[in-house]
Amino acid sequence: MGASAFEAVIGLEIHAQLQTETKIFCGCPTSFGAPPNTHVCPVCLGLPGALPVLNRRAVDLAVAAALALGCDVQPRSVFARKNYFYPDLPKGYQISQYEQPLALGGGVDVEAGGQTTFVRLTRIHMEEDAGKSLHEGFADSDRRTYVDYNRAGVPLIEIVSEPDLRSAGEAAAFFEKLRQILLWLGVNDGNMEEGSLRCDANVSIRPVGQAALGTKAEVKNVNSFRYLQKALEYEITRQIDVVEHGGRVVQETRLFDSAQGRTFSMRSKEEAHDYRYFPDPDLPPVAVDEARRAAIAATLPELPEARRQRFVAAYGLPAYDADLLTQTRGIADYFEAAAAASGHAKAASNWVMGEVLRRMKDTGVDISRIPVTPEALGGLIRLAEEGAISSSVAKGVFETMCETGQEAAAIVDAGGLRQISDDSSLEPVVASVLEAHAAVVAEVRAGKDKKLQFLVGQVMKATAGKADPTRVTDLVRRLIG
Ligand code: ADP
Ligand code: ZN
Ligand code: MG
Repeated sequence: MGASAFEAVIGLEIHAQLQTETKIFCGCPTSFGAPPNTHVCPVCLGLPGALPVLNRRAVDLAVAAALALGCDVQPRSVFARKNYFYPDLPKGYQISQYEQPLALGGGVDVEAGGQTTFVRLTRIHMEEDAGKSLHEGFADSDRRTYVDYNRAGVPLIEIVSEPDLRSAGEAAAFFEKLRQILLWLGVNDGNMEEGSLRCDANVSIRPVGQAALGTKAEVKNVNSFRYLQKALEYEITRQIDVVEHGGRVVQETRLFDSAQGRTFSMRSKEEAHDYRYFPDPDLPPVAVDEARRAAIAATLPELPEARRQRFVAAYGLPAYDADLLTQTRGIADYFEAAAAASGHAKAASNWVMGEVLRRMKDTGVDISRIPVTPEALGGLIRLAEEGAISSSVAKGVFETMCETGQEAAAIVDAGGLRQISDDSSLEPVVASVLEAHAAVVAEVRAGKDKKLQFLVGQVMKATAGKADPTRVTDLVRRLIG
């Protein structure tokens, strides 16, 4: 059988850190990068007698994510103990939700390969993070492993998808889409390097046309879009290869090695943990009544998809622009403020997609740190749209605004950069250009109209780009006669 006789079936499990100041069951800070074991207390270290108290803010953020993803938030959910032994888990169990999660259902539209698919979510539940084992970086790392509990007890949501994804590219697009929404909500910071957003991928193959699911492998450690795609591509090919050679895919957990671009077996089904889940007797059920649900729903911002559609409908922007401008909420806000300040939506869109995004990329800063406010950009756009400055001058003024923080009008006035469009100022310049290029003038007279652009270019050069090119073209024609 050829490779095309099989299709891939993929479901993702995504862990996202909730952006709270403090941990889920204690008051320790969640900030990243502190010296090891400085953000710890008896609760998150699991010392005897210490009792957890649920962080209300964590629940609010989890509910916001669930509502934005179209899930049914459950009026009552229950924390359970997931028991297993590992050094990074000080209590010997992780507090998670199991039989009664915070939210059920929901889903998102995913665009990949020119096709839109609705990917259903199974559930969203809350849980605490474990600590972090440090295998490298110490003088005795060949003999010892250290453990940092700063991350233990950091609040997470786990988002579980249905096995609705059919390709590596679609899975990566789904992960990106979730990241965009979580960032947009301010629920998660999207930082995959620091581990605040992580993904496990479940994948199986089956003959095209078969309804029953094949045996899946779970691939851990795929914490970038590119690695997720690569790991899945490798794993799909591997499974097809196993089947084509008369073998059977075994249920197992595999690890992705990004250096080798391969997945490796980590543990088989037989070695799978029995977590002995049971409700945590130290924590009452989480109650989210209708009033609280409605209050959180009222705080939700307009979501990326809705905003994208509004940008097309309300500002008449091309879909391409609307897509780019709604990458992040910060960019969308910046665009709308610049559009309002300038009164020229399409020009504002061009400026944001062009100079502003380029500046962000070149300097590696977020839109919130761009030295030009959208209001100031609006001022620059007005000058350009009113014809007070030429478009080439406008780009230079933007650079100066970034460097000095000055307003556009001040830079234009101080530099004498206003566009020259009155004939009395332009005529002497045009006349001297024609005089200097008599041969070209003769060619134009002989009907070589293309040469006219050369003469216009010379006038632009002589005025340092300040001349109004339309006026100059008129004048050149008139003076040549
Ligand atoms: P487990 O019991 O191993 O935890 P679940 O049924 O809870 O498995 O599913 C975990 C994840 O694996 C979900 O994202 C789900 O969509 C996905 N999944 C389940 N079965 C398959 C399969 N046969 N192939 C691919 N993904 C699957
Ligand atoms: Zn603590
Ligand atoms: Mg499961």
